[in-house]
Amino acid sequence: FPALPRLAFDNSYARDLPGLYAPWRPATVAAPRSLYFNEALARELGLDPAVWGGEAGAPVWAGNVVPEGAEPLAQAYAGHQFGGFSPQLGDGRALLLGELIDTHGQRRDLALKGSGRTPYSRGGDGKAAVGPMLREVLIGEALHALGVPSTRALAVVATGEDVYRDETLPGAVLTRVASSHLRVGTFQFFAARGQLDELQRLLDHAVARHQPEAVGAPDRALRLLQGVAERQAALVAQWMNLGFIHGVMNTDNMTISGESIDFGPCAFMEAHDPAAVFSSIDRNGRYAFGNQAAIARWNLARLAEALLPLFPGVDEDPEPAVAQATAVIDAFPGLFDAHWRAGQRAKLGLQSPQPGDAALADDFLALLHAQRMDFTLAWRHLAPAAEGDEAPLRALAAEPEALTPWLARWRARRAGEGSVADVARRLRAANPWLIARNHQVEAALQAASDEGQLAPLQRLLAALQSPFAEAPAWTDLAEPAPPAVTACYRTF
Ligand code: AMP
Ligand code: MG
Ligand code: MG
Repeated sequence: FPALPRLAFDNSYARDLPGLYAPWRPATVAAPRSLYFNEALARELGLDPAVWGGEAGAPVWAGNVVPEGAEPLAQAYAGHQFGGFSPQLGDGRALLLGELIDTHGQRRDLALKGSGRTPYSRGGDGKAAVGPMLREVLIGEALHALGVPSTRALAVVATGEDVYRDETLPGAVLTRVASSHLRVGTFQFFAARGQLDELQRLLDHAVARHQPEAVGAPDRALRLLQGVAERQAALVAQWMNLGFIHGVMNTDNMTISGESIDFGPCAFMEAHDPAAVFSSIDRNGRYAFGNQAAIARWNLARLAEALLPLFPGVDEDPEPAVAQATAVIDAFPGLFDAHWRAGQRAKLGLQSPQPGDAALADDFLALLHAQRMDFTLAWRHLAPAAEGDEAPLRALAAEPEALTPWLARWRARRAGEGSVADVARRLRAANPWLIARNHQVEAALQAASDEGQLAPLQRLLAALQSPFAEAPAWTDLAEPAPPAVTACYRTF
């Protein structure tokens, strides 16, 4: 290989936290071939796409060449999966390569996924398939373009090897960029084992990265908990206002940073349904659309339990610590509500809060559900409705006249919220025209995985870059799925 320039890795996790990971090497793959390289993200990281992209970079992002300065390691973590505690999960098919300071001065993790077995693989093969890794690309980029904090894909490389699941699939390695890979489950791992020194070092590391104003503060465990609560409240509120269903909100899939992570059976909802579930393994609807805020609160309570031993004075008298932690958990629903309601106001074109706004939003959502209306387009078609053209909105409803009373209320509420043009402009800025629709995602992944055709994926990715702009060339991507497709849809 031509010599690669040295990257300025600064590996704080490896440096700060010996004993909290296993140093490890990625597996070598047979025939690396670039499927995707995120040039914009590369530039943000200070990586020249001409050097690190395409076939030149493929051996690196496949794990065959470990770049100088990287210190690949598998992170330990635990987690509650569907409510049951697994004391040892960890990076079973992932490796943190190291950390780079990006062009904005932000510390970013670079990690491989699908890079082979590790000491945490349990029964797994350590591998990943093309389809699911390209799904991470699509969902991460879609969320990012929608303004939602998310881990993102830098690269996907086909390995030229087969992966065995229910069927034989082409293998791939994903390179994921995150502001860290610290999870609720990372804290649970050391708390469950009673490793309090390690837990304390993990706390200090997490505080330095995600709660810098609390560095050295005696109450930094509480303040990190508050920070995670704030970030997750904001994140889940954004998901809810976009109709996004994560699908597997296990505690090992909930970040300390507040970024979305681990897109397996996730999906943007089509027809509005609070009970919508997109994982065939989620039989009880634990991670259903309408349950996500409650699950985030449940996960936060698990984080609080893990952090509790680090609260000052907890050994002498646990009560004050428990009271403080409980107060954060109890405040979460209000915190979530504030974010969710503020987002809804924006989606209704309203600026200053007024009593009755929550009911107006609730009644709109109830209409969407009762009338089986497409979530994304119903909100989007509020813009023409505000301009006097209610036809596109009404056309989404099973009984168009059912919308009339609500539209009259909303019209009355809009008085004093600026000119029609202003309201319509705000509506188009708050309600995306395009989301990553399941059937389009599936079609793009299938073409890439089964036929090696990347054009549909590239087209969908290009469209998803500007989700708030109506583009005639991409009208087919914005259309809801035919009902028959939606009814039987599962991503996992
Ligand atoms: P996930 O369901 O992707 O969040 O993963 C849950 C846990 O299973 C994590 O510890 C993963 O590293 C591990 N895991 C998932 N798939 C594999 C695999 N193919 N080989 C090894 N470990 C895996
Ligand atoms: Mg996971
Ligand atoms: Mg996963």
